[in-house]
Amino acid sequence: MNEDTIAAIATPLGEGGIGIVRVSGTEAVEIAKHIFRAKNKKWTNAGSHRLFYGHILDRAGLVVDEVLLSYMQAPHTYTKEDVVEINCHGGIVPLRRALELGLGWGARLAEPGEFSKRAFLNGRLDLAQAESIIDIIRAKTDAGLILAMSQLKGELSRQISSLQHKLLGLLAQMEAVIDYPEEGLEESAAAEILGISKELLLEVNELIRGAETGRIYRDGISTIIIGRPNVGKSSLLNAMLREDRAIVTEIPGTTRDIIEEIINIQGIPLKIIDTAGLRETEDAVEKIGVARTRDNINRADLVLLVLDAARGLTDEDRFIIESIKEKKSIILLNKVDVEAINIEKSEVERLASGKPLLWISAEQGTGLTELEDTIVDMILSGRATSSETVLVASVRHKQALEKAAVQLTEAIDGIQAKLPLDMVSIDLRSAWEDLGEITGATSTEDLLDRIFADFCIGK
Ligand code: GDP
Repeated sequence: MNEDTIAAIATPLGEGGIGIVRVSGTEAVEIAKHIFRAKNKKWTNAGSHRLFYGHILDRAGLVVDEVLLSYMQAPHTYTKEDVVEINCHGGIVPLRRALELGLGWGARLAEPGEFSKRAFLNGRLDLAQAESIIDIIRAKTDAGLILAMSQLKGELSRQISSLQHKLLGLLAQMEAVIDYPEEGLEESAAAEILGISKELLLEVNELIRGAETGRIYRDGISTIIIGRPNVGKSSLLNAMLREDRAIVTEIPGTTRDIIEEIINIQGIPLKIIDTAGLRETEDAVEKIGVARTRDNINRADLVLLVLDAARGLTDEDRFIIESIKEKKSIILLNKVDVEAINIEKSEVERLASGKPLLWISAEQGTGLTELEDTIVDMILSGRATSSETVLVASVRHKQALEKAAVQLTEAIDGIQAKLPLDMVSIDLRSAWEDLGEITGATSTEDLLDRIFADFCIGK
């Protein structure tokens, strides 16, 4: 396996101080010898895990770039193979040229995630750890980063392995009973197996319960701010962005690049998908806008409705309140700083049927802390927070846990229905396999391809 040597640009393509071309495999050092002229001519003798100054040369001997090269000998490397990393100047042309030279001397262009896939296949990381790397790269808040780091350190893997270990113990115990039926142990063994299976199911369910929290910290909450024109939606967004160090990301690959703003609410990434009005209209152009807003409201996990406290409620406000009846939402009475408050809080309360209602001033920042607390309460409502226990953040892991829970439940039902233990053991074995999918102990080539295809090139 992995006989070939792979290469890729590991840093984002654009202008930067430094960009890195990474090469991994048995030929990595040979390839480097062809393209790199070090100040220290005997750099390969100088030992592993060192940095060398020199130049990249093309086949004609012309200098392409001035670089630093790091030389890391197997097996103490990311992929457990020989790895060479060339630190070029961070521009598109020098990086492309350095990569092309590497390819010209026999490297193959790496597929997305292929370095990490090799790290997994060579036993440096298990699958859950490898997946955490992409979560680290994509983390939107400190809490998301901490969660991903704990997964990289192997905390989830350890918990899964411990569950698997207990299951194997059960299976061994069952084998013994099945192999020696004459001992009459079946009944007492069944009682013990039942007890342990129930404990395992509790543990698995605990992990599943944490998965929603994990997803929230990892992927964030899509949020829409709605209300009539001029109530202060943009002002609110700006005020919230000012309060927190916000990340603005451009998401490529859509017809027009969407700029996504992310506000960090106590570690929860709030992804603002739209700041928009919503009203009944006859105007054709406006209708399209309204339809889009409706779609966005449907897609959103959370709606922030802004009302203008300086004015009385209008029919349009009432219409908007009605239209978000089914959504998780918070109603904000904005402009509380003005002299004359004209909104009838009691009427809003009646219409809002139990939704949280807050006085704020987007302009002066009043009530924003309370808004944050309300958002966090509403989103987590009794769920674990990021600092508690091990949190599962990936949908794939959650699905594997759910499959395992089904098998454990069947095993428990089977024992209670006094089914023969060899039948029950089939369910427990399946549960063991389902759990193994998380760490990759039991994984198919197909599954691996799907997971690593989601990675970036060069990782
Ligand atoms: P949008 O159309 O809903 O996005 O509303 P804007 O954020 O553009 O605000 C409309 C107007 O209301 C602007 O003139 C703001 O300065 C003003 N405004 C927004 N928030 C407040 C507030 O809390 N207090 C006061 N007094 N004025 C505000």
